[in-house]
Amino acid sequence: VLEEPVVLSVRNLTKSFKGLKAVDGISFDLHQGEVVSIIGPNGSGKSTTINLISGFLSPDGGIIDVDERSLAGASAADVSEQGVARTFQNGRVFGALTVDENIALGYHKKLVEQRPFKQLQRYPLLRWVNLLSETALALVHGPKTRDERAAVDDRVAIEVDRFRERLGTRRGDFAYTLSYANRRRTEIARAHISEPKLLLLDEPTAGMNQSETAEVLEQLQYLKAQGHTILLVEHKIELVTALSDRVIAMDGGRIIAQGEPDHVRQAPQVVEAYLGK
Ligand code: ADP
Ligand code: MG
Repeated sequence: VLEEPVVLSVRNLTKSFKGLKAVDGISFDLHQGEVVSIIGPNGSGKSTTINLISGFLSPDGGIIDVDERSLAGASAADVSEQGVARTFQNGRVFGALTVDENIALGYHKKLVEQRPFKQLQRYPLLRWVNLLSETALALVHGPKTRDERAAVDDRVAIEVDRFRERLGTRRGDFAYTLSYANRRRTEIARAHISEPKLLLLDEPTAGMNQSETAEVLEQLQYLKAQGHTILLVEHKIELVTALSDRVIAMDGGRIIAQGEPDHVRQAPQVVEAYLGK
């Protein structure tokens, strides 16, 4: 895959929060069809890296190029329109939209800002008066020809079919009624349906049990086999080893090792970074 064209190029990327260097001058490339995982102890800068690339945060410095187009500092909406899709560490779906509507949203390759699910749970009324949900619904149900509508329905059905036993019976249900694992399945389907040129996944198996994790691994192997270019943040080292062409280990906002999965997990500085926490 290293002979394939570079999809993502990151150079000297930096981001501080009140003097804390969350991301401290990292550089790496992702080639087309590559699956690269970022590992590292809590607080090492993994999610910040994903947030910078996806436009949810603006970098203090450095370069982010996707298909040779400069995206450093671009808005999340612009980044998503460039074909970069992401999922969230805490799993974000629109509680007031159905499973089908959430997935269809990805088809429109548009990103609508989302409040974390927890917040919707804490304020039940927000589910119904949520302006962001209205924007999302307008995207999904906006003016369309019958053919366009049929095309979206077909694509959503294909996505759901990959999660047949889990989402198949829930397609018309509001997402706020979903289990945590089903919210994350919906997120993956929503990202995939957008046919992204780059897929960013932040701990897709966080909080999942062993069988749910195995199922996500299967999904990701399917995406990899389809030739998707994936940047994955993940703690479960078996999953990382099974999926990744390369692994990047971070600590304290810096890259401390990178290369083949087995090489990186055994590198002394990586072992020490985990033991030190
Ligand atoms: P990881 O995903 O590797 O666990 P993060 O990228 O979330 O780590 O965080 C890296 C560091 O930046 C941590 O010290 C974290 O507390 C800090 N941090 C992350 N996001 C913010 C934020 N929005 N405001 C302030 N500090 C943040
Ligand atoms: Mg994180």
